[in-house]
Amino acid sequence: MIAQPTHISLVAGSGEGADEAIATERAWEGAGLPGVGLLPLQGALLENIRTAPLEPIHFGQLMPAVFACYVNDTPGERIAAAVALALGDGGRGVVRAVAGPGTAHEKAQEAERRARAALEAHGLPLAELQSAQAEHVVEERGCVVAAAVLWTDTRESERDDWAMEAWTPHVHCRFRVRERLFTARSPYQRIDIVDTAEFGRMLLLDHTVQTTERDEWAYHEMLAWVPLMAHPRPKRVLIVGGGDGGLLRAALAHPDVEEAVQVEIDRLVVEACRAHMPRLSQGAFDDPRARVVYEDAFTFLERVEEPFDVALLDTTDPIGPAERLFTSEFYGRVADALGEEGVAAAQSGSPWFQPEVVARSVRAMRSAFPRVRVYLGSVPAYPGGLWTFTLGTRGRDPLSVPDPELQDRFRALTKGQEARFFSPGVYRAAFALPPFIEALLNDL
Ligand code: SAM
Repeated sequence: MIAQPTHISLVAGSGEGADEAIATERAWEGAGLPGVGLLPLQGALLENIRTAPLEPIHFGQLMPAVFACYVNDTPGERIAAAVALALGDGGRGVVRAVAGPGTAHEKAQEAERRARAALEAHGLPLAELQSAQAEHVVEERGCVVAAAVLWTDTRESERDDWAMEAWTPHVHCRFRVRERLFTARSPYQRIDIVDTAEFGRMLLLDHTVQTTERDEWAYHEMLAWVPLMAHPRPKRVLIVGGGDGGLLRAALAHPDVEEAVQVEIDRLVVEACRAHMPRLSQGAFDDPRARVVYEDAFTFLERVEEPFDVALLDTTDPIGPAERLFTSEFYGRVADALGEEGVAAAQSGSPWFQPEVVARSVRAMRSAFPRVRVYLGSVPAYPGGLWTFTLGTRGRDPLSVPDPELQDRFRALTKGQEARFFSPGVYRAAFALPPFIEALLNDL
């Protein structure tokens, strides 16, 4: 949704002083804008300011911005700057600016002509045209004439819709909501998809952030690719939960994967995310290698016949439908569903705000696998940002994967797609734990 600005000011001013910076400040004071945030930049960034990009601007951007600034130290010369704003229908507009020797009237005419032409070039009918101009006759060194357009989308700043997650009873995190896209109550949970100002589209289940467009890749790359690299030949993958489809996309990006079975309890999460957050699954649900089973993973795992190589557990927190997925009994079922060298990995919570979730996952994983490692990632929309994943394996230690193998498989993995968080170096580094997390694990 494009927000319309409700306040637009066009300003222009001129000044003269010992140097260009002082003159610029005077120009802005003359324009009625003392102390605007951009003033301190002027001395340092005159070049940038003079060459400010004159691109079409989408409304909804918050800015003060300078669009013309002309500096001159030739006594007697007349200098001028003007900026024009052409508004089209449908919430879009263009800004054009002109500065240089000459009169303010000439500059304003030129700026208006260019603004009108730019709007026409975008096929937008002109709804409104405004301009501001300033002129100055240079007396001595260090003169400036400047013009700017400033606008604030007050609807944006006044809008007061927030999605809130309680990280603890005493720490709450709020995300400004631009638009509510989907809200429903399924038999399992409340589902919300909102468009947020900072994190893009966001999925919340029972008011808990599950994933966001801004940082989902940091989470999904680490949850999928670390265990897939730890296993020497991961052909069959099981995904538990993960209804948004981001993990399925990441798993299928791995060239070894021939089949991915996703067991998700809530069909409505998948449908809502496919409709409103398609950037997460990017068509993965239609991949011929993917199969989605709508069932409680706890019961699904009672009847697995063909073993999986890797199990990825992308479940909600241990309350509601996922409660049983954090038990030793469930991890036992996961281990039984895996082959000889089977690897399982689970998101296991924040070491800062949910040490009990980390402890519960590690204990449950240790009860089912002979070797367990915790590794770290960074997911800024989750409590505290620093995130733990717990990996259990029946095969080789993930730390023993040789460097050449890691490099080769990473190259094959990223062919055709960009890795944005994961790399061979990050794989290694992720297993290095700060002492406070080591201590938490040692106490278990
Ligand atoms: N990244 C996540 C987080 O922050 O907790 C998890 C995202 S993913 C959307 C979690 C999914 O697990 C949800 O879609 C939920 O329906 C599913 N889920 C919860 N309990 C389940 C169960 N018993 N069996 C299968 N799926 C389950």
